[in-house]
Amino acid sequence: MFNTSYIEISRKAFRSNIRYLKKIIGKDVIFSSVIKGNAYGHGVENIIPLAEESGIDHFSVFSAKEANDALRVMSAGSRIMIMGFLDDAETEWAIENGIEFFVFDMDRLEKAVENARMLGKKAKIHLEVETGFNRTGFEYGNMPQLVEFLKRNREHYIFQGLCTHYAGAESLSNYLRIKNQIKLYRKFSRYFSRHELRPVLKHTACSAAALTYPNTIMDMVRFGIAQYGFWPSPETHMFRFRKDAKETSPLKRMLSWKSKVMVVKNVEPGSFVGYGSSFLANKKLKIAIIPVGYANGFSRALSNTGRVLIRGRRVPVIGTVTMNTMTVNVTDIPGVEKGDEVVIIGKQKRLSISISSFCEMSEQLNYQLLTRLPADIPRFIVS
Ligand SMILES: *Cc1c(COP(=O)(O)O)cnc(C)c1O
Repeated sequence: MFNTSYIEISRKAFRSNIRYLKKIIGKDVIFSSVIKGNAYGHGVENIIPLAEESGIDHFSVFSAKEANDALRVMSAGSRIMIMGFLDDAETEWAIENGIEFFVFDMDRLEKAVENARMLGKKAKIHLEVETGFNRTGFEYGNMPQLVEFLKRNREHYIFQGLCTHYAGAESLSNYLRIKNQIKLYRKFSRYFSRHELRPVLKHTACSAAALTYPNTIMDMVRFGIAQYGFWPSPETHMFRFRKDAKETSPLKRMLSWKSKVMVVKNVEPGSFVGYGSSFLANKKLKIAIIPVGYANGFSRALSNTGRVLIRGRRVPVIGTVTMNTMTVNVTDIPGVEKGDEVVIIGKQKRLSISISSFCEMSEQLNYQLLTRLPADIPRFIVS
């Protein structure tokens, strides 16, 4: 009720992904489940409980807003880490609530210490260092000032982590850049140790790094895309399987997106379908209207190019995708009727439509496509 499409989340696929990834990192390494972007479109309210069922108790988000959303669903024993934006008021809120957060400049560090002093509670900080991604992080040149400040304020923080982020570990062409990042990270790490500053955890790896550079795994891995069943890139997949090329991937897609046929009708030859003149019927056609359009996350770029599944067959989108509908050509499928299941992403009978094929058609990254699935599409966990 109250929806024109819905998303199914597979518990079985998620469990299998977590099992596989845990095997790769080993049992002594913390698995941090990255749930930014509404858990890559899967819905935090679904992924947090599923992850907890699989024994995960550490979650990573981008902002205080996302941390707050996660807190509502998380069980008391779980921890949360903010990797990105925090304003001053949010910094105070994070410390008060025992939320861990990245610190990547002096200004943020001073604010954190000031708030911690005021609250009489230690800030749990992860110092992020700049090793070559060139986004956020302390520069090596900042070290004397940083270390001096940290030594002076020991009672106001817990040095929970020393971290960095890699610039494209999913592509072999970045090999040298990643190697240099690892080297520079180690140099930072030695500098801290020389000054008796030791992080509780060293962590640098995202999915691609953990899957292709074992020495980036350290004490914790921040797994995003892989836990949702996606290889960060075809290269990552090949790297894991160059020795024993397996048919089936141990990472399983866990999201399906479905809707229903809203209207079926015939179109006479010579008429245009939809807005404007992008599709001309050259013969008598049977078309089906589906109540999902670009306002519902189905890109307008898929006009005249997208595909969906109906009655176990692949059917093309014709004409332009509108705000709330798309039209598909069902001329060759006998018996299509109102109410038939439509699979936009996922399996139907023997066919499937993957997000990656979807991405190729609309030139989007699977990360982008997933996170653009509107939060108001209802999501259900299926076994
Ligand atoms: C998003 C993000 C991750 C997770 O990346 P994946 O490629 O999805 O595994 C890890 N670390 C940081 C800092 C991130 O922003």
